[in-house]
Amino acid sequence: MTRTVLVLNSGSSSVKLQLVEPDSGASLAEGIVERIGEDSSSAGLTAGQTTVSRDQRVADHDEALRVAFELFEEAGARLEDLGLVAVGHRVVHGGPDLYRPTVVDDALIERLEELAPLAPLHNPPAILGIEVARKALPDIPHVAVFDTAFFHDLPPAAATYAIDHEIAARWNIRRYGFHGTSHQYVSEQAAAFLAVPPESLSQIVLHLGNGASASAIVGGRPVETSMGLTPMEGLVMGTRSGDIDPGVITYLWRTAGMSVEDIESMLNRRSGVRGLGGEVDFRVLRRQIESGSESGRAAAQLAYDVYIHRLRKYIGAYFAVLGTVDVITFTAGVGENDAAVRRDALSGLAAFGIELDEHLNESPARAARRISPDGSPTTVLVIPTNEELAIARACAQVLGS
Ligand code: ADP
Repeated sequence: MTRTVLVLNSGSSSVKLQLVEPDSGASLAEGIVERIGEDSSSAGLTAGQTTVSRDQRVADHDEALRVAFELFEEAGARLEDLGLVAVGHRVVHGGPDLYRPTVVDDALIERLEELAPLAPLHNPPAILGIEVARKALPDIPHVAVFDTAFFHDLPPAAATYAIDHEIAARWNIRRYGFHGTSHQYVSEQAAAFLAVPPESLSQIVLHLGNGASASAIVGGRPVETSMGLTPMEGLVMGTRSGDIDPGVITYLWRTAGMSVEDIESMLNRRSGVRGLGGEVDFRVLRRQIESGSESGRAAAQLAYDVYIHRLRKYIGAYFAVLGTVDVITFTAGVGENDAAVRRDALSGLAAFGIELDEHLNESPARAARRISPDGSPTTVLVIPTNEELAIARACAQVLGS
């Protein structure tokens, strides 16, 4: 029988699940339970041609998993019959020591709990998801895969904040980087697409989803990335500010009377494209720019301009870090689908050896593809990310087969 891995991504109010065959790369089923704890929860799952859904209140993560398993059965994808060999859990922050995919035991849970202050918004729901899934599937190994792992060996000059080194060491403050599973997967796919070994390439990967991050990769190893201690640093994102003068935070705290929680919530949930333009989704933002009210249009345009400006700053900075750039790859929801973002991020950079073929860039194709003209010094690619497959493969590897 073929082997499958159930990949779980547990957030504070949602659980995403995918059943993956690590050997073939096939996704057998994909589902999400959303708005957990709210009155308007919803759950849906697609297995092959069958889609099933529920609109019922889902009180907590325990119930979310129970509902998801029921949906698997309803869709004819009984986990017991599908050769499940592992459950892979996406864990956002591995802290200073956890970076290899690790089989979950009580000691690991304890360590993750100790790390929770480093990622207060992300790790507690992941721990909850792991605990609930271990209870539901106690006989199957559970494996934690860390979003920080790929960047563990970032060169010290890139990983270090220029602050008091004793304080940094005491509190494990460094630039950790996130979306590592995606950056690694996409950079490997880029090399495979070009039919060259990853060791031969100097790459920039732009992961532009709701969260957004950039990385510079030489010979398959990252040398720079835009996220830091937390996933807040770097590019402008759907709801996060990205880079900000830390003076803004102390000023708001001291002068505007905002609490630490208020400021953190604003920077995470009411900043970025939403904070400026009122919308998170780039399709809606685009509609606002084209046909919103006068003030809506101006706000959406400014949000877009700030987003693109920051992205271009990072691309330029990574050129300086790398010296030469063989490949720039766009991935994730915005990067894979929004041709205008790709065009505006790279326009006017012919002097850097970057050009886009307008026709290729506008093509609605979904598969991995080149969007730069033949023979341009830097190849520009669009490659769909697949963090679930990468997590499933990491699980299969750690289980030694
Ligand atoms: P997450 O970071 O939550 O995994 P995704 O990588 O799925 O996010 O990206 C989601 C975002 O991708 C949406 O909020 C939207 O801005 C953008 N997006 C998705 N499809 C399109 C599209 N066809 N055109 C432009 N943007 C899109």
